[in-house]
Amino acid sequence: MDYKSFLQKLEVYKQKYKVQSLGKTQFNREIYAVEKTSGEGLSTAFLVAGVHAREHITTDLVCKMLDEGLFDKIEEFNVCIIPMANPDGIELCTGGVLSTPEKYRKMLLGINSDSPDFSLWKANGMGVDINNNFDARFGTNVGSHIPASQGFVGWFAESAKETKILADFTRAVLPFITISYHSKGEEIYYNFFQKDAFLERDKLIAERFAASTGYAIKNPEQTSSGGYKDFCVEKLKIPALTIEVGSDSLSHPISEEYLTEIYEKHKFIAKDLKFAYNVARDKSYV
Ligand SMILES: [Zn+2]
Repeated sequence: MDYKSFLQKLEVYKQKYKVQSLGKTQFNREIYAVEKTSGEGLSTAFLVAGVHAREHITTDLVCKMLDEGLFDKIEEFNVCIIPMANPDGIELCTGGVLSTPEKYRKMLLGINSDSPDFSLWKANGMGVDINNNFDARFGTNVGSHIPASQGFVGWFAESAKETKILADFTRAVLPFITISYHSKGEEIYYNFFQKDAFLERDKLIAERFAASTGYAIKNPEQTSSGGYKDFCVEKLKIPALTIEVGSDSLSHPISEEYLTEIYEKHKFIAKDLKFAYNVARDKSYV
């Protein structure tokens, strides 16, 4: 869904959940968090979606989880969801260059080989790939040295407003788990150079999510860097999953007509989070 549809959803969520803005993007859009609060001082699970622009089906997915009330019966911990971490990129992807302030349009069209079709765009509105911009072995796998539709790591770690906002909020709350939704391929990633008990703990949690979704676990630890998962694992030592939703046979951006099919594989999220909560609390793993 686009930013406008998301804002309409938020009006509904405000009646039931705590909705707060975590800060603004370069193009003055808000990055919102929706929280199902079970109690003050309880641990929190983070779900982050809409990081890569063309993967906006992930925003629909976490919104459907909220619409279906999947978190409402959880009492042991809070669940905080950031459904659209990259609203500028998503607006560019869904609405084209006219969605951006006039002074950036020439630059963005230049990056996009002068094509008006931004439907495959992954980066934020400034051509930084947010999921390469986190402080985790930053810049060791550089897809691009200049702003691009994907793979530009940024000028320095957390140089993008979206990255900084997400990293600051995560450092402040210190969730017991983070899950980042991307598309596509029906895969789960969990490792980033963690060892021993941390590795064992995170593997156990990943295996649980793999069993409940039917997705495959992947281990490309040497090919990623600067991702949100990477940052959570290496800098904060918390379990973090990247979940790639949607069959690999689907084309980017995945159409909303596949939402129900994708959602069906994620409807046990509350049970999976409870499992992760218990594992994360088990001191023998850390
Ligand atoms: Zn992605």
